[in-house]
Amino acid sequence: MDDTYTAAPRPKVAVTEVGTRDGFQSEPTFIPTATKAAIVDALIAAGVRSLEATSFVSPRAVPQLADAHEMLAVLQRRADAHIAALVPNARGAERALGAGVDEMVCFVSASETHNAKNLNATIEQSLGHVAEVAAVASGHPVAIRGAVACAFGCPFEGEVPVDAVLRIVDAYARLGVDRLSLGDTTGMAVPPTVSRAVLAIRERHPGMRIALHFHNTRGVGLANVMVGLDLGVREYESSIGGLGGCPFAPGATGNVCTEDLVYLLEESGFDTGIDLDALIGVAKRVEQVIGRTLPGQVMKAGPRLRRYEADAVRRAVG
Ligand code: ZN
Repeated sequence: MDDTYTAAPRPKVAVTEVGTRDGFQSEPTFIPTATKAAIVDALIAAGVRSLEATSFVSPRAVPQLADAHEMLAVLQRRADAHIAALVPNARGAERALGAGVDEMVCFVSASETHNAKNLNATIEQSLGHVAEVAAVASGHPVAIRGAVACAFGCPFEGEVPVDAVLRIVDAYARLGVDRLSLGDTTGMAVPPTVSRAVLAIRERHPGMRIALHFHNTRGVGLANVMVGLDLGVREYESSIGGLGGCPFAPGATGNVCTEDLVYLLEESGFDTGIDLDALIGVAKRVEQVIGRTLPGQVMKAGPRLRRYEADAVRRAVG
């Protein structure tokens, strides 16, 4: 965007990179610790200042991220780059504290069936685990974010009522959690469900910071981001190259792609602080690491004003 005509600074939008957690956790092979750390370092060098870098879930449950502690130790930590990690219970919280994370992300599904499948617990039991995490974190300089999985639909139960989301958000609020992440775990969000949930939460908990975490499973991830932007939401979670989803499940695509999101935000007049070209470089590196093509589109087409040598482009007929 040409800033020549606008005196006001561009509104800032925070982009949280979740690829090394949300994406790598479902890769079929273990990615070496040093490679993971190098990708996080490269993302930070590209200007990313918030990352959900790994997960302190049981190494037996998610062997791909069993190296959470080592990975964070290898990173080039810097004061202005905020490192979060997923934390399922008190044990995970203690490990995360030991690794010096800036933020612990707790998660509960708004769907009872998904929560049982994913966490092997009832929603009530999972909220009990969040309380344990909050107790461990208490007195330490660490933030807690409450994620709500299946906030916009559940593959087992279908439509997820806003009241089911509010029940979790209310519980988070009672525990002093003041930042949320609304997760569209299987890509079921559509513009009306996004605005319904955001408006309902705002009305009940005006002080809550809301981040939106969309998956692009049905191709409307960025449309949902636009709805969030219109509502004034200024925090989004995405993965480099669109990493994520299970490679064995056709159609189970990953998160909204970070470069595509940054491209949209910057071209819409928002300031992400992220260098798009550098980000595209990281996405290409990640493709080499995982050995397959990623769904990101801007990494293939390049920035909007990328120019071609007229003579070098072959003419297509029709
Ligand atoms: Zn996700």
